[in-house]
Amino acid sequence: MTWPSAGVRSTELLANHTSFRIGGPAEWFAEPHGLDELLGLLREANRQGILVSVIGGGTNLLVADRGVRGLVISLRRGRPFRLVEVLSQEGEPQVRVRCGSAVYTQQLVTLGGCHGWGGVDLLAGLPGQIGGAMVMNAQNIGQRVERIRVVSWAGSVQELTRDQLAFAYRYTRLPPGIVVDATLRFERADPTATVARIQHVLQHRNATQEVTLPSAGCAFKNPPGESAGRLIDRAGLKGARIGDARISPRHANFLVNLGRATCDDVLSLMDYVQRRVVRATGILLEPEVRLLGERW
Ligand SMILES: Cc1cc2nc3c(=O)[nH]c(=O)nc-3n(C[C@H](O)[C@H](O)[C@H](O)COP(=O)(O)OP(=O)(O)OC[C@H]3O[C@@H](n4cnc5c(N)ncnc54)[C@H](O)[C@@H]3O)c2cc1C
Repeated sequence: MTWPSAGVRSTELLANHTSFRIGGPAEWFAEPHGLDELLGLLREANRQGILVSVIGGGTNLLVADRGVRGLVISLRRGRPFRLVEVLSQEGEPQVRVRCGSAVYTQQLVTLGGCHGWGGVDLLAGLPGQIGGAMVMNAQNIGQRVERIRVVSWAGSVQELTRDQLAFAYRYTRLPPGIVVDATLRFERADPTATVARIQHVLQHRNATQEVTLPSAGCAFKNPPGESAGRLIDRAGLKGARIGDARISPRHANFLVNLGRATCDDVLSLMDYVQRRVVRATGILLEPEVRLLGERW
């Protein structure tokens, strides 16, 4: 098979693209350098009936051991996808920032700290990229969103304004496709105070989360009015292990990779957690990590 872009590789190991360090190969893998190249790839895949998936920072992903069929796209090498542009003028009460979807969320936080973008501290310590954060509505980032640009799988560009989007807990209603950028709004604030708030959030995260071992953050969503971590802890599951996948003794909703965990280890452990918690409480925990690849 030939692709319009020379940059398409075969059998790229996706474990190297996820914070869990788990996952088999992508059948095809591309890192387009800009919008035109991305559109060319999508139109060609559409013409040939090839399944397309997209990954951001890979920090909320569990990729199958057998890998992913079709074309997997990462925008991280494309300069336009890594741009942060301030759209507002000095003196305007709010700062409007257009952010490429491959911008790492922590880059935005650093910039926001230096310039005093009030509210950016909400995102302090959140791993991954802006595109992934939009899709997951991570840290309720949706409250800052003014508009999002999405490219459909068929290769057409669409801009959605806030009233066309819907945000909920770990959910954003978006048309199917790839987020290429988002415009966010922040209040103007004192940079020193903003940096202090960022530091405070980071200290709290480091004290409470599992940050030293590979993981995909929280494995399960919090049920309404409850904490998934607390339910797992109360079921006595901290430290439980299947293969090299273990429930963090520090934070019960973090499943960590002790070194050689497979996707099957993690899925078996998640299944075990769900069964134990449902037996103890009647609550079925819903996965927060997104599953990508062959097993599904
Ligand atoms: C240590 C740790 C701590 C974490 N803490 C938090 C936390 O406090 N709060 C929180 O909400 N989350 C947290 N997470 C989870 C994760 O960091 C967030 O969900 C993050 O926003 C995901 O971004 P990403 O770029 O890594 O997305 P990925 O994991 O790459 O992808 C997530 C989903 O978005 C899709 N996607 C990615 N990019 C695009 C795009 N450009 N267009 C369309 N779809 C796309 C993927 O297909 C996938 O379905 C944590 C994770 C870790 C490892």
